Amino acid sequence: MIEPAGDVAARATAGFRQRYAAEPAGRWAAPGRVNLIGEHTDYNDGFVLPFALPLHTVVAAAPQDDERWTIWSELADAPVEFGPTEADKPGQVTGWAAYVAGVVWALRAAGHPVPGARLAIASDVPLGSGLSSSAALEAAVLAALVDLGGLDLPAERQPRLAQRAENDYVGAPTGIMDQSAVIRCRAGHALFLDCRSEEVEHIPFDLDAAGLAVLVVDSRAPHRHADGEYASRRTSCERAAGLLGVPALRDVSPDDLDDALARLDDDETRRRVRHVVTEDQRVLDTVALLRAGRVRDIGPLLTASHASMRDDFEITVPEIDTAVDAALAAGAYGARMTGGGFGGCVLALVDAERADTVAAAVTAAYAERGFAAPGHVTVLPAGGAHRLP
Ligand code: ADP
Ligand code: MG
Repeated sequence: MIEPAGDVAARATAGFRQRYAAEPAGRWAAPGRVNLIGEHTDYNDGFVLPFALPLHTVVAAAPQDDERWTIWSELADAPVEFGPTEADKPGQVTGWAAYVAGVVWALRAAGHPVPGARLAIASDVPLGSGLSSSAALEAAVLAALVDLGGLDLPAERQPRLAQRAENDYVGAPTGIMDQSAVIRCRAGHALFLDCRSEEVEHIPFDLDAAGLAVLVVDSRAPHRHADGEYASRRTSCERAAGLLGVPALRDVSPDDLDDALARLDDDETRRRVRHVVTEDQRVLDTVALLRAGRVRDIGPLLTASHASMRDDFEITVPEIDTAVDAALAAGAYGARMTGGGFGGCVLALVDAERADTVAAAVTAAYAERGFAAPGHVTVLPAGGAHRLP
């Protein structure tokens, strides 16, 4: 099991001392996240159920006298410095530093007086694996700047701001899920998010008490045409909602699904719609089981979600299917791809004491198929962004 932020925080502090020859005023951590269930439901105004991971990005920071920002990450070659001129214009700061400049930009655009600051960043959230290292970076920087500047920005308003940084400054069109999860999640809980109202509810997800854990497998599958495929799924869904005369597919009730499908003109669109409508229902069913304390029983819903993504939404790849099948064969209660698809991670619900055995089975199945070895980590639901003591 990975320990909370400890090591990463030590690296951020050491990096700060080394770069700036000074002590940080504080350290702020934000976690990665994984989506337990609810895939491609967000842009259909539906439901998602992420939880935070015990993997963190930590920012060690101190105020700087002038209104400028100096940032350094252990994952980048050189520090980057920028001032209000660059921060106020999306596109001026590029690369990884854009995620940080985007937060400064979004805060300033919302009228907050952002203090100049020096930041050193360390992280054990893998980059680009779909565990949301981008939102972790935004949330940790945001938490640091809000505290250093004594800004009036309660946690419930922070996800929107971090999302604007990523959408409008970095230029990555993401929904509100990642930022909501990494900022608002609670330990031992999953975050039930209604993507239409943006209301959240903390759902008990106490794996530890049930002797369970979630095994997260990084498929290491190369992302094949992921952007284009994502866009085409999104267009299909929007077009289908138009044909059905509803604002979004969230408005198609599972009871009316057969009628709705009969009104669509081609089989591919029917399968896309069926995925979204049944996936929303699986999120609601998962929430109901978790509320009743029946954690183990969500397994079949996870596996059904995977089948729906594989057969109806057609967003899985051989590495991902191999990992899911191997985890189930090795005794996982349920397993599914998590994230937008065409690579990324798989999660499996397992007895905590069997996590290593299931991971070994996945690795063996990969070797048999000649795939590059997968990564894996066993997790329990962690808490959202916070200042470290
Ligand atoms: P994901 O969020 O799934 O990890 P993204 O492509 O959305 O993948 O975000 C990854 C990008 O975020 C990286 O390429 C890098 O630019 C930036 N990033 C995230 N964490 C860090 C970090 N600790 N240091 C520097 N850049 C980071
Ligand atoms: Mg991201």
